[in-house]
Amino acid sequence: MVTAVMPTYARADVAFVRGEGAYIFDANGRRYLDFTSGIAVTALGHGHPRLVEAMTKAIQGVWHTSNLFRIPGQEQLAETLVKNTFADTVFFGNSGAEAVEGGIKLVRKYQYASGHPERFRIITVEGAFHGRTLATLAAGRQEKHLKGFGPIVDGFDQVPFGDMAAMKAAIGPATAGILIEPIQGESGLKIVPTSYLKELRALCDAHGLLLFFDEVQTGMGRTGKLFAHEFTGVTPDVMSIAKGLGGGFPIGAVLATEKAAIGMVAGTHGSTFGGNPLATAAANAVLKEVLAPGFLDHVVAMGEHMRKGLEGIVARHGNKIAEVRGKGLLIGLRCHVDSAKLIDALRANGLLTVAAGDNVIRLLPPLIVGTREVDEGLAIIDRTLESMVS
Ligand SMILES: *Cc1c(COP(=O)(O)O)cnc(C)c1O
Repeated sequence: MVTAVMPTYARADVAFVRGEGAYIFDANGRRYLDFTSGIAVTALGHGHPRLVEAMTKAIQGVWHTSNLFRIPGQEQLAETLVKNTFADTVFFGNSGAEAVEGGIKLVRKYQYASGHPERFRIITVEGAFHGRTLATLAAGRQEKHLKGFGPIVDGFDQVPFGDMAAMKAAIGPATAGILIEPIQGESGLKIVPTSYLKELRALCDAHGLLLFFDEVQTGMGRTGKLFAHEFTGVTPDVMSIAKGLGGGFPIGAVLATEKAAIGMVAGTHGSTFGGNPLATAAANAVLKEVLAPGFLDHVVAMGEHMRKGLEGIVARHGNKIAEVRGKGLLIGLRCHVDSAKLIDALRANGLLTVAAGDNVIRLLPPLIVGTREVDEGLAIIDRTLESMVS
């Protein structure tokens, strides 16, 4: 008999009842070090006092009004995002996939509104993950996600990762834009070279295309800058964000330049819940912390500390671990051993980690993680690998 919860996930058999910073506790009181952060979501860890305070206040106020009316917290959040990014304007939704989907609509509408209704196709790269709606699945084009879900939504072309010649060849009269993650998260922490992103920027400018970065996973300080593309000096025209934005409260957003958003006038896009008072209270509280002086320096320092420790692990367990992948606290290990087995063994030893493609395990501690906790995590990995037969 089917479970009451539709069985679309292969869940680990553990549930949590309490969290504190980088730690989370199950019903038996067993403590785990949480290096999943709910898949790069709980950026401030569990039970962060200022997030709790902001949400407690929000809960006592008006929860929801819809976008029929002005929402002061949403205006504040949009202003903060505009002030701290390339963007001039922001649309709020409730998830990463919705943010990407909104960005896809915006790209198409831009071309339509600027006299090119024939341009609607978006080029993506192999290994991309952009979400699980029909359009974002078509954008990601992963066979394992698409199979059985009927005709693939039209309007997406895909080229091999890092192949500039293929990218150039894929641009045609119907191309509207290029969508790419600066670092591929789900498919194994693959970093797109800066030179490649620079060439994409030039290509988009030369062909009148919009450059669309999906920073749903890489954003909100995860890599050590507010957004990963800041390391490259390349700015997009459109960007999707979500995951860490609400610190655990569901919220996503599409950011765009004024020029790119030219077609997004009243009535063109909408969401009942998008940017509601509770969601934007959470995101405002998260951004306040992440933008505070020293916060991102801390992420960089913890990322470096983690990387150093992981390099040591690769050196000690070269027969089981191949290499360190990623940037900042979006970091992980590509394994020779079965990564799923390693994840189970780590959990049994009190460390929670996340799988990714390429036999990679992701280590995504909250951004507030300390040296002691990173060291504890590293020690668990060392000890677990020690006892694992390769
Ligand atoms: C997680 C993710 C998404 C999808 O986000 P959901 O909130 O699960 O819809 C889209 N793009 C990237 C890069 C992601 O990592």
